[in-house]
Amino acid sequence: MNPKTLKVITENCPQNHFCPSVLVCPVEALKQERYKAPTVDPEICIQCGKCTNFCPRKALVLV
Ligand code: SF4
Repeated sequence: MNPKTLKVITENCPQNHFCPSVLVCPVEALKQERYKAPTVDPEICIQCGKCTNFCPRKALVLV
């Protein structure tokens, strides 16, 4: 089991655009309400790290 968890650092996200990471998540664990920072469902997330490479602001991190 992967001990890491995906953390959304809301203050890094300008919250003014569609989040590209939502589309790269292979298990649809990320959700975005309007242009707000995305939220992650920890029950669905498999900690693959794809979204962390996609966010230019580093608002998604595996810790
Ligand atoms: S770490 Fe992978 S599974 Fe988890 S939210 Fe990001 S892209 Fe989706």
